Formats: sequence, structure tokens, C-alpha cells
Amino acid sequence: LCDDWMFEYSTAAKALCRHFNISSVDGLGLKGKTLLVASCGALFEYLTQTQKNDLNHISSVKVYSSAQFMLLDVSSRRNLELTETLREKNKKGSLLWVLDKTKTAMGARLLRKWIEQPLTDITEIRKRLDAVGELKDEFFMREEVKEVLNSMYDFERIMSKVIYQTANCRDLVALKNSIENLPLLKNIISNGKSGYINELYSNLDVLEDVFTLIDKAIDEENIPFTIREGGMIKEGYSQELDILLKAKKEGKNWIADLESKERDATGIKNLKIKYNKIFGYYFEVTKSYLELVPDRFIRRQTLANAERFVTPELNEIAELILGSEEKAISLEYDLFCEVRNTVASQVDRIQSTAHIAATIDVLQSLAEVAQSQNFVKPEVDEDGVIDIKDGRHPVVEKMLSDGSFIPNDTYLDGEDDRLSIITGPNMAGKSTYMRQVALIVLMAQTGSFVPASSAKIGICDRIFTRVGASDDLASGQSTFMIEMTEVANILNNATDKSLLILDEIGRGTSTFDGLSIAWSVLEYIADKKLIGAKTLFATHYHEITELEGKLAGVKNYCITAKENGEDIIFLHKIVRGGADNSYGIQVARLAGLPAKVIKRSGQILKQLNTADITKKAKKLSKESEENSTQTTMQMDMFSIQETQIIDEINKIDVMNLTPMEAMQTLFDLQKKVKGL
Ligand code: ATP
Repeated sequence: LCDDWMFEYSTAAKALCRHFNISSVDGLGLKGKTLLVASCGALFEYLTQTQKNDLNHISSVKVYSSAQFMLLDVSSRRNLELTETLREKNKKGSLLWVLDKTKTAMGARLLRKWIEQPLTDITEIRKRLDAVGELKDEFFMREEVKEVLNSMYDFERIMSKVIYQTANCRDLVALKNSIENLPLLKNIISNGKSGYINELYSNLDVLEDVFTLIDKAIDEENIPFTIREGGMIKEGYSQELDILLKAKKEGKNWIADLESKERDATGIKNLKIKYNKIFGYYFEVTKSYLELVPDRFIRRQTLANAERFVTPELNEIAELILGSEEKAISLEYDLFCEVRNTVASQVDRIQSTAHIAATIDVLQSLAEVAQSQNFVKPEVDEDGVIDIKDGRHPVVEKMLSDGSFIPNDTYLDGEDDRLSIITGPNMAGKSTYMRQVALIVLMAQTGSFVPASSAKIGICDRIFTRVGASDDLASGQSTFMIEMTEVANILNNATDKSLLILDEIGRGTSTFDGLSIAWSVLEYIADKKLIGAKTLFATHYHEITELEGKLAGVKNYCITAKENGEDIIFLHKIVRGGADNSYGIQVARLAGLPAKVIKRSGQILKQLNTADITKKAKKLSKESEENSTQTTMQMDMFSIQETQIIDEINKIDVMNLTPMEAMQTLFDLQKKVKGL
């Protein structure tokens, strides 16, 4: 779609300067940013060619940096069901469903964006959290804000129509009604204490001039279907139009006068002056009165029951009326376009106000939910610790609605507690628990309060999830291939500041292949030199729990269940330690598998359990321990020598070396590097 030349720096810079009417791209904050200039210029060229429309409304360039936001890849976004559920793609059952109490379409869109792009900047996050806190505590302020927002249309969208000159009368009236209450909104938040609310207050432009213009010009009571019909401009807005409209109105009286005058003169009792688009105005005389028609009446048309006539006097009046009517309609159209253009010229101010209204809406929505769902304000910092007390899954909790959700604690840091292996029976709540931790971190970085009794969240740069898998036959990938591709992505991109949610790695292949992959993936993640990310690792391979105490930073947790005869009671409570049973057969029985199958699988399980895989696992975990200390030692040795060489290079006084000395120094350094 875009030719190479569009990306040439000088062509792109010229296109930008031309559009913004500036002499250098420095004015756009793009100094030295050659790639940005090239792509931005190409984008303008592309828009010019494809939109075939005036781009004057684009009045600035904003640099979007992904570093400001937590990185969430598509599968994590989907797995965490941020805006829609995994299977049915419904909003109900997603995080957005819990958090969305917005009153405007603009707010709803912005909330979705916030959820999909959590922040990484502590100051920005705290700014949002403080504002949510204030609106949560200030019940009356929140209620008043909600009421004003309720009356607002989506004027962000209306503005797009205004710019593209497709907005009609109804749109401008909707815009007027939306901005009518801005002074009230400003007044409500004028007593705000938090920095963000104050900032929004100061920046909120109440657009009085735009309101006054539309209010004066457009007749709200008389909205026509299209803007080419006239009848929409208010009396008093244009003197010229008022004169034409008066002629049109008086013309109606002239017609009425002429009608009664001719009725008397001719004696035709039911004489009527009518109008249609083809003939204009005419007298209509029914058959029974035809002999009373005088000679001065000129016949125009004969119908089955009547005939139509005109007179010079009627023609004269008709011309006056129709002339002024036509002129009025065309003038009204011009006036409307003029108003629309003036509104369009204020696009920056209006869009910025729309954004502020949307932001206030999102903040009130988060405050409302924090209040109703009993969320608390998280403490966010950069010390890398996630410490959640009585955490809950926001969606499962809301779905259960009877308060039966069991809260759980979480502690993860970059040191001794960086990787939790989570075991427990099927249906115990492992997935729920892990997702809840990811969601709480994500919510905190969005600026939302969180479902817990307290939460300290060390900012994460990314959240990766590997949860379940579905076949993607269309793309030619099997369940296991998708799983491995996702794991590869995680291992290649996670950092020590990331949060990893890994659910049942290796379940899509044979038991031993799966166990081996899960084991080595875990070793790789736990290794601080390689990744060292905070990780929740759920598995049914209980052998892996042998790694606690052998690999640094790894701890075992299990979600408890109680056996009650043949039955199993899920307690959903996480405790330290590893589980040794998945109770898979009990769960299968609960699901209704035939008794014969259940009985037989019990027998098979007994036989298989005697295989000595646990003993092997114990031996392997020892190997893991040795490997990890060895690599750590090797790494340590390597990095000590490396640091020494770097120090040496830093100390060289380059400017005072002779060429020979420089050669010698380089030679010595090379020798050292080769010796590493
Ligand atoms: P599997 O190993 O079979 O995948 P799991 O351990 O991952 O199971 P989940 O899918 O997380 O189990 O949870 C199963 C069900 O248990 C959930 O649908 C939810 O209804 C319930 N549940 C999970 N956690 C809790 C909790 N903390 N409090 C109350 N109910 C819970």
C-alpha cells in the first residue's frame, strides 16, 4: 500500500512540515527521531491518498511509547478474559464486565483502553488511584458526576461526523445538549482534592462559545430529516433569512386571501388553492362547478372529478412565495454548513473536553465498583514484591454472588519466593487463583482498586499467561504446538520484572515428554541469570515439587481439598506444601463417567502408582540443584572477570596514549578476553 519513497526521511519531513505549516519537524518534538518522522510522513501520505478528504483536523502528533504501558501479548489478553470471555466472546464474565459502570460511550471506550493498556509509571498509576479513592469516598460528588454524565452523548464520535461534514442537525443538537452541562460538571469537581481531579478541573474547557453558537443558530424544536429541507435555523440568527421566511409566511396569507376573494367573485363554494411540486399553486374546481369558472381562469389540467386552473395574480404570488422559499432553503443550508465548519474548527478543544469527560467517567466507574465490590486501594511501588492478603478473583466472586468465594494470600518476590509451584486436585481452584493474581496486578496498574483486604504491588513490565489451549486448526497448529509456541514466546521475552502465569505446561503430550518439558522450563525460569521472573506454575506433575529446596526461589503451594469417603470436598484454600494426589478419578466420577470406567481406572492407577517415578524425580532434582550451582558459579566467575576487563577499559586515558601504547593495550585486552 505504501511505496518505499514515502518512507524517505526528507520526503516525509517535507510532508509533515507542509501539513503543519512549520519549517522543521523539531517543532513537533521529533528532533533526531528519523524513523518516527519517516513513518509519520508515510502515514500522512497514505491518508492523503486514501481518504481524499481534508486532513486539516489533524493538528498535532503524539509520540506513543510502549514503555509507558505493561506489555500484554494477544494470548495473555485473551486468556485473562479482559474484555470478553474466552469461549463465548461475551462481555459478561470478563474483567471489563465487572469494572464497567461508565455512563457514556466515550467512558466505556476509554475504560476498555485502560484495561488493555495498564501503566508502568508509578506516578501515573498513583495519580489514577488517588482520584478513584477520592470519588469512592465522596459519595455526593460521585452521584452528581454520574447524573451529568448521563446526559452526555458520544460527542467524540459526533465530532468525527462534524469534521467529515456528515453531521446533520440532530448531531449538532446532540453535541449542544452534551456540552450544556459542562459548567455544572466543572463546578462539581471544583472541590476535588486529588491531583488528577484538580488537573482535569483546570483543563476542562466548558466550550461556552460552541454551545452558544449552536443554541443561537439551530432550532431544536424543528429538526428536519435532512439538512437540505430548511426549517432548522432559528429565527433571529440571520436577518437575511428572517426576511425570506417572512415572505414565505406572508405568502401563505396572500394565498388564503386570494382563495376567499375568488370564491366570492366566482360563487364557486368549494374553490381551493392547492399546491404540488409539478404545477406549483393552482385553483381546483370540481366538475359540478365548472360552468362558474370565469374566462380569466387558465386551464392547466383535467382530472376525473376536477379541473385545475391558474390566474396571472396567482402566478405572481406563487413566484414570490416559491422564490423566497427556495432562497430560504439554500440560505439555511449555507448557514448550517457555516455553523458546522465553525464547530469543526474547534475540534481540538472539543475532543480534549470529550477525553476529560471520558476520564472522569472511567474514574467514577472504578470508584463505584471499588465501593460496591469492596475493593481496596493497592500500594504500588518498584520494589518487585507482590504481597496480596485475602485476594479474590473479581469475576468468579461476582458470578458466585452469594459471598462463597474463598480468599487467598499471595507472596512473590524476586528472591526466595519468586516461583510458586501450585499443585492440588482437579477443580480445586488453581487456575482461578493464578488468574486472580494476574488480574489483581493488572487492575492495580490500570489504576483500579483491587479485590483483597490489602495489596502491595511491585510494578510488572509484562504479564505472560499460558493457560489451557484450544486447537487452532485454521492456522494449521495443533493444541500442543500452540502451547509450545506460547511457551517459547514467554521464555524468549520475559524479564525479571515480569509476572508469569503458567498453567499445566506440558499437558498436551505424553506424560514423560510433558513432565520433562515442564521441569526444564521451570528450571530455566527460576534461574536468575536467565529469567528469574515472578512465576505461578500450576501442575499435576507432582514430581516437580521435589524442586523446592533444591532450586533457589522455588516454593511449593497446594490448594486444599478434603476426602470424605469416596467423595472430595474442595476447600479452595492455598497452603504451603505440595499435593500428592490429583483426585482425578473422584472428579471424573462427579462429572458422571460410568461406574465401570471409574472402577477400572482405579485399578489401573493402583498398578501405575507402584512405578518408581518419584524416586527418579528425587534423583533428578539433585541434578537440577548441582547444575544450577554450577552454572551460577560459572556465570559468577565469568561476570567477575568481565567486570574487571570493563573496569580496565574505563580507566584507559585514551587521549594520552601514544599509538604504540594504544596498540599494546589493545593487544593485552584481547589476550584477556580470549582467556575467558
Ligand atoms: P483443573 O486442575 O481441573 O483445571 P483447577 O484447580 O484449575 O482445576 P479451577 O478451574 O480454578 O480449578 O476452579 C474450579 C471451580 O472452583 C471454579 O469454576 C470456581 O467455581 C470454583 N472456585 C475456584 N476457586 C474458588 C475460590 N477461591 N472460592 C470459591 N470457589 C472457587
